[in-house]
Amino acid sequence: MSGRKIINGRFDAVVVGAGPAGVIAAILLARNGLKTASVGVGSTVDKSNNATRRSDPRTSALMQGAIRLLDRIGAWEQLQPFCAPLQRLRLVDATDWSVKAPTVEFDAAEIGSDPFGWNIPNAELTRILETLVGSIKSLTRCSANVSAAELAEQEAHVETTQGDRLYAPLIVAADGRTSLCRDAAGIATTTWSYPQSAIACSFEHEKPHNDTSIEFHRPSGPLTLVPLPGNRSSLVWVEEPDVARSHAEMETREFEAMLLDKTSGVLGSISNTSARGVFGLSGLTAKSFSNRNVALVGEAAHVLPPIGAQGLNLGIRDAAVLAELLSDNDIVNSPAALEAALANYDRNRRRDVVPRTALVDMLNRSLFSGAASLQGLRGAGLHMLDKIGPLRREFMRRGMEPAEDLPKIMRSDC
Ligand SMILES: Cc1cc2nc3c(=O)[nH]c(=O)nc-3n(C[C@H](O)[C@H](O)[C@H](O)COP(=O)(O)OP(=O)(O)OC[C@H]3O[C@@H](n4cnc5c(N)ncnc54)[C@H](O)[C@@H]3O)c2cc1C
Repeated sequence: MSGRKIINGRFDAVVVGAGPAGVIAAILLARNGLKTASVGVGSTVDKSNNATRRSDPRTSALMQGAIRLLDRIGAWEQLQPFCAPLQRLRLVDATDWSVKAPTVEFDAAEIGSDPFGWNIPNAELTRILETLVGSIKSLTRCSANVSAAELAEQEAHVETTQGDRLYAPLIVAADGRTSLCRDAAGIATTTWSYPQSAIACSFEHEKPHNDTSIEFHRPSGPLTLVPLPGNRSSLVWVEEPDVARSHAEMETREFEAMLLDKTSGVLGSISNTSARGVFGLSGLTAKSFSNRNVALVGEAAHVLPPIGAQGLNLGIRDAAVLAELLSDNDIVNSPAALEAALANYDRNRRRDVVPRTALVDMLNRSLFSGAASLQGLRGAGLHMLDKIGPLRREFMRRGMEPAEDLPKIMRSDC
């Protein structure tokens, strides 16, 4: 047992899971004036995530909508010094297939004055969000894992491993891909796996990255370099699981030499590589994103491979859409109004998540499956994006995040 006071109380909303999506959901609901609890142990290692890491070595490329949200909740000023803008995105076909795609570069300047987004170290993001949580009066932090959830009744309740009991008309399940709350709510999922794992770390390099993210499309999966401040970048390198593990365990000098080779020296020599983490890749889509008194947020609702950097962007949109639909505080205390708002949430999230998951899945499979038809489709698509300016600009506008349907807190015109 910890030395803190056991929580036994009623809230308007209980958010289970203190990963980035859950903490953002809790902050937004509390800012709306709902008495909110954020339950979970936070940035400690989630063993269910198949990760061999102690602290998260990943970074997240977040698009402008997510950055606006971070700014409006008061996190961006502290975060920005750790982040780099994503001005250009270059896709390089590094296969030796007969149908080879051209190198395509997307420049954010073609569609406006802002970069596509920013690359943010996950460790800094969770640290700064946690400090914000402590500053919001209507938000109670309950640092324990949920051990049981009873969600069938009108007033749901969860119990923690520390003996806390929290009651609320609304439970937000942000407890990751193996979500206990999703199971307790009886929400089924479609799951699939990929014969791939991603190595994640960051490193220093000799040449400037010029705010350009470079994605090498290789037969085993993408190898992506994403800018960080100065001459530093983060790496997401997708390989077959055994290969990824052996690369991650390699002596640092040997790893750096191999990375130099695999990236054709595009950033010059490589040094000061951080600890490496390995993440097994899989996919999951919940059959429903909510039911009567539960809303799924983040990886409890959707898991997709890191190609295209969509995962946390979707998780942040989940949180923002939910908070906007519940911005009238009376909704959570009216069962009929809550049910209607959550049905709306399900429709909204399905529109955003399902087509993006299908596209990311197709792009990923076009690399490792060896299917000539998918390779041809990918090559033809990239040729068209390279040659047809209006198509490329439309792809940039819609590919990063939805053009319409963004909640107000993520929009530039609000
Ligand atoms: C290599 C890699 C690179 C990526 N890069 C990007 C990127 O550039 N951009 C992007 O948008 N996305 C990216 N993603 C995806 C992104 O990392 C995830 O979408 C995001 O971390 C999910 O956050 P979450 O809060 O939903 O889940 P999690 O971070 O998994 O948080 C869930 C939390 O719930 C907790 N929990 C679990 N069970 C319980 C319980 N019973 N009680 C209480 N708490 C519980 C866990 O401990 C954890 O803290 C990447 C993913 C990978 C693997």
